[in-house]
Amino acid sequence: MLPTEHDIFLDELKLSREDESGIVSRFAGTIRFPTVSAPEGFSLEPFHEMRQYSKAVWRNVFSSLDMELHGEASILLKWPGYSSTPLDPVMLAAHQDVVPAGDPDHWSHDPFGGDISNNRVWGRGTIDYKCGFAGMIEAVSLLLAAGFKPGRTVYLSFGHDEEIGGLLGAKAIVESFRNRQIVCSSVLDEGGYIYSEPDGTVAAEVAIAEKGYASFKLSAEAVQGHSSVPPERTAIGVLAGAIVALSESSMPLPEVPDVIKSANWLQTTFAPTMLSGGCKENILPAAAEVIINTRPSPCSSVAAVLEHILTVVEPLGVKAELIDNGSVSEPSVVSSTDTKDFKALKESILNTVSADTGFRCGVFPAATDSRRYSRVTKNTYRFMPVHLGQKGIGALHSVDENILITDYLRCVRFYVQYIQRACR
Ligand SMILES: [Zn+2]
Repeated sequence: MLPTEHDIFLDELKLSREDESGIVSRFAGTIRFPTVSAPEGFSLEPFHEMRQYSKAVWRNVFSSLDMELHGEASILLKWPGYSSTPLDPVMLAAHQDVVPAGDPDHWSHDPFGGDISNNRVWGRGTIDYKCGFAGMIEAVSLLLAAGFKPGRTVYLSFGHDEEIGGLLGAKAIVESFRNRQIVCSSVLDEGGYIYSEPDGTVAAEVAIAEKGYASFKLSAEAVQGHSSVPPERTAIGVLAGAIVALSESSMPLPEVPDVIKSANWLQTTFAPTMLSGGCKENILPAAAEVIINTRPSPCSSVAAVLEHILTVVEPLGVKAELIDNGSVSEPSVVSSTDTKDFKALKESILNTVSADTGFRCGVFPAATDSRRYSRVTKNTYRFMPVHLGQKGIGALHSVDENILITDYLRCVRFYVQYIQRACR
């Protein structure tokens, strides 16, 4: 049977060498825009320039899909479904911004050069997360060129401040969905990868939950005095004891669904990240403070973490309070694996990774824009078919960030498949 107009199935996406080099060079072009976001403020110019570039190199996408700008530089593309299907739209999300590159002298390639060498594309954002931004647009471009029409509406959502919390971009996009009462059946975002295991096996992991985010201020007080006659109790000494006690403590593991029971990173973590106290070397300070950044486990809560911290540090005479600064987020809900979209995702993964790659569900230990999108969907799936290698998640913000060309091409093939399978 011949495929119908809307059912062109690019199971085996045939790409010539020339097609592939065009795909890779369009992607490398996005790396050349230093779309760095920073909490103290940042220029939107590189974002506007990258958008103009994208419009020029993926002309069919930007002329066929409806585009909206939110929060000045976040892009929402809508590809309307052709039929009056009762299915809710699906969303694919990626962020345009990147973390700073640090000292370029520490890099072996210009972090914003988009160099292509040694079978890789080099630069800040290659895996976090311009492979998603460019890969999704490229996939839509290929599908449009092949005449594919989605059976349900597809949204591509590209925030511009994920690395600093997503309060301008993803949040504004979500508000616009809420105002229009649009609900998505699922959002596909970053946070799951292909991992190498210590035993040499390889597994593709879809993160169906992500941890929360909350920082707490711990403070200790003591009598200010002369350091030549220190008392038994000093503010810094007491605080140090509390930091050690907290790092040695652990919260009971929450009840999680069986599918992620053996996942990595289930435990709530406590990381001391900022420390202050004292102003002169021979004065015992009256107070000392530490910031503890925590990542509450799925099925736990920020309140439960505070309760645990208080239980540990209060007996030591240390106060603890939540820093309520807009970055706080509860752990996500655990998304269902019993949905059409998850099935489409799993099939697309198994079809694009090598035959010896395992498949599993897991938990992402950091926070992504997904926490914002959770207001428009019940199901968030975090995955991109990129092999993180030995560095694991540490590769994401590292010096010499790069992606194998085969991994990027796999991203494109994967998005091509996922959109078709989800929209049939
Ligand atoms: Zn990211």
